[in-house]
Amino acid sequence: MKSGRHFLQIPGPTNTPDRILRAMHRAVMDHRGPEFGDLGQSILEDLKPIFKTKNHVFIFPASGTGAWEAALVNTLAPNDSVLMYETGQFATLWKKMAERLGFEPLFMQGDWRNGANAEAIAEQLKADTNHSIKAVCVVHNDTSTGITSDIPSIRRAMDGANHPALLMVDTISSLGSIDFRTDEWGVDVVVAGSQKGLMLPPGLSFNAVSEKAMAVAKAGGTKRSYWDWLDMTGPNGSGFFPYTPATTLLYGLREAIDMLSEEGLENVFARHTRHGEATRTAVRAWGLEILCQDPALYSDSLTAVVMPDGKGADALRQTILDGFDMSLGTGLNKIADRVFRIGHLGDFNDLTLMGTLCGVEMGLQRAGVSYEKGGAQAAMDFLAATPLKGTN
Ligand SMILES: *Cc1c(COP(=O)(O)O)cnc(C)c1O
Repeated sequence: MKSGRHFLQIPGPTNTPDRILRAMHRAVMDHRGPEFGDLGQSILEDLKPIFKTKNHVFIFPASGTGAWEAALVNTLAPNDSVLMYETGQFATLWKKMAERLGFEPLFMQGDWRNGANAEAIAEQLKADTNHSIKAVCVVHNDTSTGITSDIPSIRRAMDGANHPALLMVDTISSLGSIDFRTDEWGVDVVVAGSQKGLMLPPGLSFNAVSEKAMAVAKAGGTKRSYWDWLDMTGPNGSGFFPYTPATTLLYGLREAIDMLSEEGLENVFARHTRHGEATRTAVRAWGLEILCQDPALYSDSLTAVVMPDGKGADALRQTILDGFDMSLGTGLNKIADRVFRIGHLGDFNDLTLMGTLCGVEMGLQRAGVSYEKGGAQAAMDFLAATPLKGTN
């Protein structure tokens, strides 16, 4: 039995604030009754500003992976080709799903250290003169690598090539932590989940859908049932769902939306930027390497750190879990055991971050990793010298 709170510093699921836990701690209501309709309508409306869209946002009782599937099956017909870009493990998994569902992904190779390359995407699209590519799929913030790809540059590449493909973006670990503008950036389908920036437990997934994507879904797509957007639209109009929604998670979502809007979305993003920079300051002072090689694309919701001298990252994470009761993210697939990931998103303040960074620094020492002392101090200096707007 350990005392004090566990530090859940994986990049999702994130720590659920007490306020949200309390909001969920109530009896399940009749999901066909009038009280539910009011709740559903308010949530469906108030989610829009979080996605920065005027269009409809669909909610599925599922993990984020469900919303990936919904995005694909509502818009693509069997054997359609889709252009996907390898930014890390999550892009790789989405591509595998597309294959299994009978689509034909054209997977553009990446090195897991840089973002989706808009120029390379533009070339592929220009070469596709008969428009056989029906969608371009990109992960905004690849949580396995800590790289935030530049979505507006990809939109410009598509427009420059005069290509009609839909743009679909996974924002599972960026929505509510890193700025994302669905309508302004011309994104047709957004994929999101509940357990990262929205600070909820896992179990809800989302699609924001443009008019263009909705028209494509109406005209075709793949055979589907559970994931059908069109089944949702009727009942959603009065705040209801075609099947039993995850009522308790929706209580929590109502609270999460309130928390984000009370703080102000732009302030939420600024807070994450500042904590991202403080974390990177610590990593540099330790003399360790950040996996992302493009400073313009550093993720503000997590940092993937490369282990020095071939030391195992998993042994370090185990030392930190055993000694300091903190969970860090593991290296996935190609970078297994070579990186560890520090989650700094969601319900987070300066002292949460300092507890996290102190835990990492003590772990480095105890595990006998060669590093330079003073990363936590460097982060403290940065935070002390850089007050968040609105505080002092
Ligand atoms: C977490 C995550 C997923 C997977 O979501 P699940 O909820 O585990 O299904 C997909 N993409 C990104 C970018 C993620 O961070």
